[in-house]
Amino acid sequence: MKLLLVCIDGVRVDLALPGHVAADPAFAAPDHPSDEKFSVGGPDRTLQPAEAQGYGALAPTLARLATGDERSAGRVIPMWMTPPTDSGPGWASILTGSTHEECNVWWNEFVGHDLARRPDLLSRAFHANPMARTLVAATWDAFVKAPGPIFQQRLDQQRTGQHQVFYPDHRHGIAAADAEVAQWANWKLLHEGPDASVVYFEGVDAAGHAHGADSEEYRAAIRQADELTRHLVKAVSERHEQLGEDWLIAVTTDHGHKPEGGHGEDEVEVRRSFLITHRVGGALPEPVRDAGTLRAEQVMWLLLDAVGVRHGSWEDAAIGVQRGVESLGPTRNLAFEW
Ligand SMILES: [Zn+2]
Repeated sequence: MKLLLVCIDGVRVDLALPGHVAADPAFAAPDHPSDEKFSVGGPDRTLQPAEAQGYGALAPTLARLATGDERSAGRVIPMWMTPPTDSGPGWASILTGSTHEECNVWWNEFVGHDLARRPDLLSRAFHANPMARTLVAATWDAFVKAPGPIFQQRLDQQRTGQHQVFYPDHRHGIAAADAEVAQWANWKLLHEGPDASVVYFEGVDAAGHAHGADSEEYRAAIRQADELTRHLVKAVSERHEQLGEDWLIAVTTDHGHKPEGGHGEDEVEVRRSFLITHRVGGALPEPVRDAGTLRAEQVMWLLLDAVGVRHGSWEDAAIGVQRGVESLGPTRNLAFEW
């Protein structure tokens, strides 16, 4: 089974899928506590369902993917991020199947990261079967360039076209860059059908920072990301329809946004995330059909399991154990802020 994972930065799922969130109590409160270093306390400022629904259907593509139909099965699985709810640690956990401690990514600077030993989703697919063709297109450079990057570069496979990487022109703004990412990925998905693909959009997060989650600009950015996602879904659906290929589509986010904009700590509306899974023209694979509430570091393993990637093993518990370097994470002491 082939995989397309769409990563939309900073989406509030209570705005994008208000009906699904209201119907599932697992979306109400985090399933695990946060480290008090990243806790800000204060009341839950989740937008109320009625208020969220009043904005209408912001994300018809995501809703259709999550709901499924008589031909294609879909669901949305609640997910809770572990603070710090910044993009670097969030996406690193989602895409490498690692806790913050395991990959040592705590901020967007990626200082001291251990990603060389925490291969990403696409690299895992490649290492499971070196014939696998993979693709990553991203508006954020941390996915494909630096800092990090989260996706290992695998230059040998890039040279032969077996691993394709795209990073857009940013001179015309984030929205144009997202559109360029979608256009490039759409062509590749439609005509080449890589075995595992990741496509990332930044526009929703940018609108959240500039205008807050309770703004028309933020809602418009969700509509735009939803429409770009539809183009990608259309491409793989064409391949299913015309070539009989078997596709699993997934959509996720790394954090929400506060009503006034921003994220990074432990507010409910910021920690709340989701994983949509959708099988084009078939039933959901058992792992995603049966999955309960997720944490970020479980997503990669779940998706690999669902599409049939199996890992080798080296049966010695001491392999790869690092001695003498302890991961402490940031101190949060303002004396270190410059
Ligand atoms: Zn983010």
